[in-house]
Amino acid sequence: MSSKNHFDHIVLGVGSMGSAACYYLAKRGHRVLGLEQFDITHEKGSHGGESRIIRKAYFEHPDYIPLLERAYHLWRELEEQTDTQLYFKTGLLYGGPKNHSVLSGVKFAAKKYGIELHELVVESSEGNLFRVPSDYELLFEPDAGFLLPEKAIRTFTNQAKVYGAEIRANTKVQGWKLLDHAIQVDTTAGTFTCDRLLITVGAWSGKLLPMVEPHLKVTRQVLSWYKPAFPSAFELGKFPCWLFAEPDCPGVFYGFPSMKGVSSETSNEVKVAYHHAGIKTDPDHVDRHVEKDDLALVHEFIRRHLPGGIGEMSESKTCLYSYSPDEHFVIDHLPGYKAKVCVAWGFSGHGFKFAPVVGEILADLATTGQTALPIGFLNANRFEK
Ligand SMILES: Cc1cc2nc3c(=O)[nH]c(=O)nc-3n(C[C@H](O)[C@H](O)[C@H](O)COP(=O)(O)OP(=O)(O)OC[C@H]3O[C@@H](n4cnc5c(N)ncnc54)[C@H](O)[C@@H]3O)c2cc1C
Repeated sequence: MSSKNHFDHIVLGVGSMGSAACYYLAKRGHRVLGLEQFDITHEKGSHGGESRIIRKAYFEHPDYIPLLERAYHLWRELEEQTDTQLYFKTGLLYGGPKNHSVLSGVKFAAKKYGIELHELVVESSEGNLFRVPSDYELLFEPDAGFLLPEKAIRTFTNQAKVYGAEIRANTKVQGWKLLDHAIQVDTTAGTFTCDRLLITVGAWSGKLLPMVEPHLKVTRQVLSWYKPAFPSAFELGKFPCWLFAEPDCPGVFYGFPSMKGVSSETSNEVKVAYHHAGIKTDPDHVDRHVEKDDLALVHEFIRRHLPGGIGEMSESKTCLYSYSPDEHFVIDHLPGYKAKVCVAWGFSGHGFKFAPVVGEILADLATTGQTALPIGFLNANRFEK
């Protein structure tokens, strides 16, 4: 293999986590190749759809909070270094029946880590956009907001290139293997070798990592956008991000203010979605057609809680979740590969906000074999009996 095709690190999949890993590795002076099967940002994986919520009072597991503190710091640092706004602080309104496990989890996490969280009074609905029953509670996390996923991935990728990384889009990885003194990666654009391999292929993890396949569940998710009845009420700066749990309904509903003014392409439509298990699918054969039934629960939520505020649907899209069995991430060395291969998979529909810290951890693991960040609970061995 010519030295031209040999790299210190090859990153498979330049999406949310892979683009960040390319950036932190290249910034540390390593020779990096990033391989992406589609364009840099696309709508076939897990990062499409314009916006992602970022929040700290993490009801999923408080052990994520130190990683979130670092992620907030790294998002700010990236914004400052590139003079690019990626994070929009809107605050996040949590709602749901009193004592619902999501709200209890938010309060528990906020208390444990001293995160600012306000309990709001549920007022009569007259004049409010949200109609909230009197047996609900409302919480507000001021430091939460949303990120721009496609712009963030392009920023990581462009900056990685500035630091010398080679990024090849539309180059599908067909397989990889450990040789005596290197790792070989076969792609549609030829063969490359490296000293360390990082695998961040999201919904396709089972295809390149047969040992992950039995533990990974890829599901199809639907996002939809609506024309607000009173556009000014939903404007950025006036309307927060929100996340509601409903009685007798698994998962949570969530939404965003309008993105008008965020970029020249964004409009005053508002996105609403349902975070839930979804329907199992194969990432290469996803039904992208959105049926009325796909949105029945979202429309029921809007009818109950945002009547009159949100009007006609203007657009809908599909996106993929990659569930691990316990819905927590896996960030680790691949067991059995002598610390030469790192993996990050199973982001289970809540990973984007962590992208920079995951990139930094992967860069730590690949270059030094360890990280100072607390990721023990995300180890790769936990599903093995
Ligand atoms: C509808 C929806 C809403 C979400 N909302 C939130 C939210 O509000 N907040 C939040 O924090 N998270 C949210 N998430 C989750 C978050 O977006 C994901 O956890 C995150 O994007 C996963 O990143 P990833 O790098 O694993 O996958 P991706 O970003 O999809 O990257 C994987 C990349 O690998 C590439 N790849 C795969 N196979 C190959 C191959 N053989 N060769 C080359 N390249 C390959 C893919 O094309 C892809 O670009 C949401 C996800 C969805 C779908």
